Amino acid sequence: MIVNNTPLKCLFVSSEVAPYAKTGGLADVIGALPKKLREQGIDARVALPYYHSIQGRFFDHDSHFLTSYDVHLGWRVQGVGIYEDDSTTVPTYLLKSDTYFARPEFYGYKDDYERFAFFCKAVLELLRHIDFMPDVIHCNDWQTGPLCLLLKDKYRMDPFYANIKTVYTIHNMKYQGLCGKEALDVLELSSDYMSAERLEYHGAISYMKAGLIYSDKITTVSPTYAEEIKTYQYGCGLDRLLGDKLYYKMEGILNGIDYDVYDPKIDPYIYKNYTWRSIGRKKENKVKFQEEYGLEKKDCMLIGIVSRITDQKGFDLMKQTVDSLWVMDKIMQMDVQFVILGTGEQEYEEMFKHFAYKYRERSAVFLTFNEALAQKIYAASDVFLMPSLFEPCGLGQLIAMRYGTVPVVRKTGGLKDTVIHYNPMTKEGTGFEFEDCSGYWMYKKLEEAYQYYVEKKEDFKQIQLNGMKKNFSWDEAAKKYIALYHGLS
Ligand code: ADP
Repeated sequence: MIVNNTPLKCLFVSSEVAPYAKTGGLADVIGALPKKLREQGIDARVALPYYHSIQGRFFDHDSHFLTSYDVHLGWRVQGVGIYEDDSTTVPTYLLKSDTYFARPEFYGYKDDYERFAFFCKAVLELLRHIDFMPDVIHCNDWQTGPLCLLLKDKYRMDPFYANIKTVYTIHNMKYQGLCGKEALDVLELSSDYMSAERLEYHGAISYMKAGLIYSDKITTVSPTYAEEIKTYQYGCGLDRLLGDKLYYKMEGILNGIDYDVYDPKIDPYIYKNYTWRSIGRKKENKVKFQEEYGLEKKDCMLIGIVSRITDQKGFDLMKQTVDSLWVMDKIMQMDVQFVILGTGEQEYEEMFKHFAYKYRERSAVFLTFNEALAQKIYAASDVFLMPSLFEPCGLGQLIAMRYGTVPVVRKTGGLKDTVIHYNPMTKEGTGFEFEDCSGYWMYKKLEEAYQYYVEKKEDFKQIQLNGMKKNFSWDEAAKKYIALYHGLS
């Protein structure tokens, strides 16, 4: 796409980008979408913090120092060093500050508001230093909300920034970047911004709100979630703002997955490669997985989960009761095995440790983050469970379907938009869905999947093939984003 005979220029700003820094789907999206946009003629680039964990892991040989400068945050002045990755087709700028980013975790610190205010401001300053004037800055989640505000209310007076538009994508409404009034200080904003029309959220400052109000366009990652967040149940307190005031600039665009990374035909991490034509080989992945991780070696249905272990993901349903048994115990009464990979809230981690002990020969529980192991699980499992209470898009179910693993999901957000309940009459459908937030229905749908697995093998295979043949690549979404960028006036 051409604007004034030059490609449209778009800078993605994100706190996570695969493969450098990932805790969930946000990283996957920013690792894949800019790449796809470049293939379609957009000059897409990426900026992210140079976290401690990135140093040494990726850039021993493949990066170069570009520049450094000072960033002013109220009375503080902090230096930033800019490094560019030389090994990727997408120009990627890493912003280095030992004060803010040389820490073991990406988030969870009491000065997060200052760390990401610094990041937003440093990115805006970067543009001038590298003489890159994008048509669009594409911001993602609360960490980048202040950038939209700073651009509109502070930098706009400078001709260099005057014509830059912003798109703000909500990847998860639940995480709003709430902080105290001290954020106004680092963002150099007057107390007027502490009002309901601007940043105030129940007495706190919301970085998410800054992104929503001050961006030119809001997107979220599935059409259903775009509607859901306008309701009290899913809007996390911002439903009225979105539904009554900002609806005119909001759109839902379904995420894809990176077909260079998630492809059972070439995936280097799985035991045996396969395609839909050679789906029979998928089973070897289960056999080898059982062998490596001490599961009983038998042909029974393997249920997989790869997920952040938080309440969002619906793990409370496992603790409900059916026939006076915990749902999880009821599930394990079937002849199934169970594997989970994830990290998160202690309450649920303890629960899974308990099940790992109780069903030691039939379960594998990995409370860690491991991308190679994740891919093995997608390939080895027969069924992939995602009982989310809400799910903006969800990538797990898309990856699962790509690997011929049948998703069992709650019908919400992107899960509703991507999984089609199997219809044995038409042989159409890619998985199993339940609507109520209920452990009983989760169990019933797993039981239905189990019956297909055991008794209606041809149908089960049909569901696997239907999923594998679906197109979940970024092609369509990239086209929609390009149209959206061009529509910004
Ligand atoms: P969310 O963004 O809410 O965490 P998504 O389903 O959109 O959920 O994306 C999750 C991504 O993170 C998927 O690529 C999934 O495979 C990956 N993932 C989640 N937990 C782990 C883990 N413990 N180890 C490796 N990959 C993980």
